[in-house]
Amino acid sequence: MQIVGYHTGPNDPALLVATGGSVEGVSLEPGVELSYPLGDRHCAGAIDDGTHYPCDRPGTPYCERHTQDWAPTYTEEEYAVYLAAFAPATFKVGITRSWRLDTRLREQGADRAAHIHTATSGPIAREVEREIAAGMPEAVRVERKVASLAATVDSGAWEALLEEYSPVETFAFDYGLALEERPVAEIIAMGTVVGTKGRLLVLQYAGTTYTTDLRELVGFEIAAEATRDHQSSLGAF
Ligand SMILES: [Zn+2]
Repeated sequence: MQIVGYHTGPNDPALLVATGGSVEGVSLEPGVELSYPLGDRHCAGAIDDGTHYPCDRPGTPYCERHTQDWAPTYTEEEYAVYLAAFAPATFKVGITRSWRLDTRLREQGADRAAHIHTATSGPIAREVEREIAAGMPEAVRVERKVASLAATVDSGAWEALLEEYSPVETFAFDYGLALEERPVAEIIAMGTVVGTKGRLLVLQYAGTTYTTDLRELVGFEIAAEATRDHQSSLGAF
């Protein structure tokens, strides 16, 4: 049994767990109990048409052979250029196909966002992004996103930035986490799901609130005692 992937975004966040070649989506909705003690970690292999093909190579989450080339390809369709805010005051610029904008922002766990420009193609959007990016990051490190948990956006700084761009549309997202303190960053798949914010999973376990980057779970084997009788171990702590 191995964790082989995850789904983020607005609909049905899930951990993908493979057993003997078949892949199951384990819901990450609030209230779900996870009981996956982590064992060894190695390449998560490949999933093709619902079948998991395991791989023993040591690279994580994927070995060289199974690392997909994520270099984006920009198509000739409408793109949105956006600004995204991560509490308290990390702002980035990005582009996505217009129809995916809301999903893309939630996948990243943005707290606020603004659609600031519409481009007729990906390459044009990329040019606009580059110009804006001169003074702003195009990527936000996970540590910054962890820091955004239990924080609120610096509205003054955000509104001041937006004034420079006259947004087409603005967004404010609530991930329903209602955290009073920043969770402890830990690689863990045990406990009660509090919720997800982009790739960050928030769990409550033994009285402590933890957050895990879902990508950091990919490739872990589930230790044997959990797989023997998973159901009976639910809620056992
Ligand atoms: Zn591999």
